[in-house]
Amino acid sequence: MLGLMQDWPLLLHKIIDFAAIQHGGREVVSRTIEGPMHRSNYRQIRDRSLRVAQRLKRDGVRLGDRVATLAWNGYRHLEAWYGIVGLGAIYHTVNPRLFPEQIAWIINHAEDRIVFVDLTFVPLLEALADKLPSVERYVVLTDAAHMPATKLRNAVPYEEWLAEADGDFRWAEFEERTAAGLCYTSGTTGNPKGVLYSHRSNVLHSMASTNGDGLHIESADSVLPIVPMFHANSWSLAFSCPMRGAKLVMPGAKLDGASVYELLESEKVTMTAAVPTVWLMLLQYLRQENKRPTTLKLVGIGGSACPPAMIRAFEVDYGIEVRHAWGMTEMSPVGSTGSIKPVVAGLPRETLLALKEKQGWAPFGVEMKITDDEDNELPWDGKKFGRLKVAGFAVSSAYFKGDGGDILDENGFFDTGDVATIDPNGYMQITDRAKDVIKSGGEWISSIDIENFAVGHPDIQEAAVIGIAHPKWDERPLLVVVPKEGRTPQRDDVINFLQSRVAKWWLPDDMQLVKEIPHTATGKINKMKLRETFKDYRLPTA
Ligand code: AMP
Repeated sequence: MLGLMQDWPLLLHKIIDFAAIQHGGREVVSRTIEGPMHRSNYRQIRDRSLRVAQRLKRDGVRLGDRVATLAWNGYRHLEAWYGIVGLGAIYHTVNPRLFPEQIAWIINHAEDRIVFVDLTFVPLLEALADKLPSVERYVVLTDAAHMPATKLRNAVPYEEWLAEADGDFRWAEFEERTAAGLCYTSGTTGNPKGVLYSHRSNVLHSMASTNGDGLHIESADSVLPIVPMFHANSWSLAFSCPMRGAKLVMPGAKLDGASVYELLESEKVTMTAAVPTVWLMLLQYLRQENKRPTTLKLVGIGGSACPPAMIRAFEVDYGIEVRHAWGMTEMSPVGSTGSIKPVVAGLPRETLLALKEKQGWAPFGVEMKITDDEDNELPWDGKKFGRLKVAGFAVSSAYFKGDGGDILDENGFFDTGDVATIDPNGYMQITDRAKDVIKSGGEWISSIDIENFAVGHPDIQEAAVIGIAHPKWDERPLLVVVPKEGRTPQRDDVINFLQSRVAKWWLPDDMQLVKEIPHTATGKINKMKLRETFKDYRLPTA
């Protein structure tokens, strides 16, 4: 027997309808590429999104067509997203930090018909334009006054293009499993692969990821998504903020400590989210200028492991709660968040600070397991580490156009490529990427653990650990560090420092100083490149 409740399709544009009705005057504030701050609200965003949909339709865009965006977080980007999905087309976020050839490859693979582009990225596209045959029109996210002279095909300033639609339009109707968004993962090997979100998966993910134990967003909040819309959906914040009625503060292109601090204060931000690199810049600024955030209550940190010193700085020095989050493009992206469950709430503060180094627990809608190389499930004892596999309503079932073949195991689980432990209370801790774990004497060493401890050393700015071939042990860890300005960390001193923190057989066999550690387009340490740099290096112990 079926239930007798309505089929109310979970469609993304219903979110902006809701925000316009219930929170119509709630502000959307953006730092524009042109310079000044821009103030809008959910009612206006909805009206203009409707016109985007109407105008796209006039340009011939239909259900299932891909429309790219190459833009920072800002109100026009937001309007473009809702306009695209409200027509049943697919927003394709292109990460401008990728190599130009990769960008061209991705746009061609997606067969994007129209590209919305910020002023910043016009030159980037001009250099590629003759390699992008599918693109019929470029809409530059600016007004006529700021429109650059460009040879991009059929280029128009967004405001003029939008003015040609009167808003007398209704959202298209289709079912909730319709594709809504496309984002390519920046795999370090092989071609990027397209993750294709549906309306349903994005709506459910937005609801699940922002509950009280998750990113915790309510209508009273003022939220600054620093995580870009072009990488993993800005953790869904462009959907979840209007869904919750929170004020939205869009940072544009300026992500340095001073600019972020200015927004935190001027817009009375209560919640924000970004990768650790951004927080390093902010913390450095706060210390240098002797300033403190006065309204910020919660900071979401994820994308790569949050160093213990960062957790301590926010929680202890500034009294701001840290929510360490883990996830990936294939998970929409949030897979876990580290709020404190009642079962551990009574533990001493130091223990809880250490617990926050773990990547947290999976919310409803995300199933997790860890397995060994033979696919046997491992116990949740907080010690055994294995491959982390996931299933859920916002987890990929396949890549766009079938790339990569079958990506689920026989029980429908997706292998994240991460290696993790899960403790008896459900807290998961990433110990490595499967390809980065160091295999020493048949046992696994977590490179991330050593890195986390190493950055706690007073002379070290950034640290990376890679496995180097060893005749006896197979691989041994090499610690690569960027010194803090004016400091010269000494090998023996650092090893000594690590001695009390990691098992003896985990201690790096050597340390090398570098000026810079290479990063990927999504801000993670590029271990492949680092291994390449040290391919001729021999350990003193070998
Ligand atoms: P992406 O799809 O680019 O967002 O990358 C996802 C990957 O980033 C994950 O599979 C993890 O390896 C890594 N990652 C994300 N969040 C964290 C975190 N909090 N700690 C450690 N690694 C993380």
